[in-house]
Amino acid sequence: MVKIDRKKEDKEILNKYRNLLRACSDKTNKKDKKDIRAAFNLAVNAHKDMRRKSGEPYIYHPIAVAHIAAKEIGLGSTSIVCALLHDVVEDTDYEIEDIQRLFGSKVAKIIEGLTKISDVFNQDISLQAENFRKMLLTLSDDVRVILIKLADRLHNMRTLDSMPVDKKKKISSETLYLYAPLAHRLGLYPIKTELEDLGLKHTKLEEYKEISQKLINTKEDRTKYIRKFIRPIKSVLKEKEFSFEIKGRPKSIYSIKKKMIKQNLDFDNVFDKFAVRIIINTPLEREKSDCWRVYSFVTDFYKPNPDRLRDWVSTPKVNGYESLHTTVMGDDGKWVEVQIRSKRMDNIAEKGYAAHYRYKQKNEKSDDSLDAWINKLQEALEN
Ligand code: MN
Repeated sequence: MVKIDRKKEDKEILNKYRNLLRACSDKTNKKDKKDIRAAFNLAVNAHKDMRRKSGEPYIYHPIAVAHIAAKEIGLGSTSIVCALLHDVVEDTDYEIEDIQRLFGSKVAKIIEGLTKISDVFNQDISLQAENFRKMLLTLSDDVRVILIKLADRLHNMRTLDSMPVDKKKKISSETLYLYAPLAHRLGLYPIKTELEDLGLKHTKLEEYKEISQKLINTKEDRTKYIRKFIRPIKSVLKEKEFSFEIKGRPKSIYSIKKKMIKQNLDFDNVFDKFAVRIIINTPLEREKSDCWRVYSFVTDFYKPNPDRLRDWVSTPKVNGYESLHTTVMGDDGKWVEVQIRSKRMDNIAEKGYAAHYRYKQKNEKSDDSLDAWINKLQEALEN
């Protein structure tokens, strides 16, 4: 048993708290900070004698969930307060009425939703992804419940190592079948991808290791190929005075695995496919035409496969995703998927609608600026 150093832990708790404040400084005013402080104080106190399976102070977890909600999902102060308090009613002596009295009915409603979801899971029923989504909809009329639940799940997945094997497997399968599709539906792609990769790691470690090793082994060749592929595109974009950035798109381990199974291919054949992303810096009114201009430059050099053209610039996906995708024939007959999008579209793809609304309302500092996004997500969930 490691000796517990309370002083050091208290220092670490404060550190984490300060990091959290930094992560949301662009969208919190004085009043918000006061609320966050109050939620933090209550959570620290309520969880003070609890520890995680890893032996760490329990409070590390709600702080981390709040940090994910703020930084990785882009949520505002109400959600941060709720994330800090999310396990208080379930795991400590506090009742929902206390939360209501101290933080108001909006926060109390969200916490109540979060607690109900946990109750359902503790009953150990098995659910199909579709029923899960419907159940979530009936348990909460505020999509923030679901976003915080996703942040909670992501942190639990990131810290799964100290769990016993059977729990690891149960939590991971739930993540793969229920939470990752939910993140996908809500347009939270980086979170979806991470949930899937962690899910695979904890259910099929050998396969996970094999693919990640192969990714490492083939990295140099892939980088070389892509570098050569983008050279002519780069020079024409420079010539036309575009402000742009081109990235090789990393494929997730889980998506490679899925493709290998679905198309009955081995690793090398799946990885015959390359992907790059061209991100252009262009004003809102020129986005569409500039994306198509870039498309025409790309296809001047490489022959496109007409069946593989996807235009989510003219018609965005329900979850808000916008991008122009084409697959072209590169050297040596290899197919390369090219994604073309503006900086704003890229932000949406990375962070969901939060980024979109922040872009439109740059000076709006209150949580209300997120309302439009929240409504949009609610729609995405209900459809
Ligand atoms: Mn939790």
